[in-house]
Amino acid sequence: MRIPIIAGNWKLHKTVSESVTLAEALRDALAGVQDREIIVAPVFTALATVARTLRGSGIRTAAQNCYPETTGAFTGEVSPALLKDAGCGGVIVGHSERRTLFGETDDFINRKVRAVLDEELTAIFCIGETLQEREDGAMFEVLSRQLEQGLDGCSRQDFGRIVVAYEPVWAIGTGKTASTQQAQDAHAFIRSRLADICHPAVAEATRILYGGSVKPDNIDGLMAEADVDGALVGGASLKAEDFIPIVRFARG
Ligand code: PEP
Repeated sequence: MRIPIIAGNWKLHKTVSESVTLAEALRDALAGVQDREIIVAPVFTALATVARTLRGSGIRTAAQNCYPETTGAFTGEVSPALLKDAGCGGVIVGHSERRTLFGETDDFINRKVRAVLDEELTAIFCIGETLQEREDGAMFEVLSRQLEQGLDGCSRQDFGRIVVAYEPVWAIGTGKTASTQQAQDAHAFIRSRLADICHPAVAEATRILYGGSVKPDNIDGLMAEADVDGALVGGASLKAEDFIPIVRFARG
């Protein structure tokens, strides 16, 4: 039985006070929700304040990125240890915007995943193909490579703190959601690869989230698919009136 996760990626949006206003609205509206996990990922500058606002609410805070070293001469970077200190429970790693805009490679992402796990934080590990890769018939090959290299060296025990987010790049921020069948096909493939990479029991237990233009009106269909265990939500996580109904998706 995999407990669903709905996670909001606030990206580069919101001041500290705007973040707190949204966090308070979610905290008040979602109090008592127990059969699903809720995570929000504000910008670094708002993390500690949002984590404090949400303390005791059941909504967890994650960071959107990290650097895979604990301390040192790494100007401008933030380590998992410091994120934990700020009240974070997890870190989004390998988001396609990091891969494409900031040139992050599978190897570098792997270092981040392992650094996050070393701090006993949850790694929300993102993978997904571009439109070109899908049209070229390379989607499964790309997903396999991202999984194998990004999760290299992770033990069976580590997988207890790994959440995979399947985010087809062509669906992120475009308003184009994958069809429920496209999402299910990709998720089932990812689960089968996790069984090969680690163990069938790990594959069965690992939560695989879908991300890419999730909205209140498409979440129920996505969540009805057998291998979709939740959603990573960008644009629609920025407004309480959109994110709340997504968190309250109907269970089939
Ligand atoms: C994301 O950034 O992870 C995402 C899925 O964005 P959006 O929901 O806006 O497509």
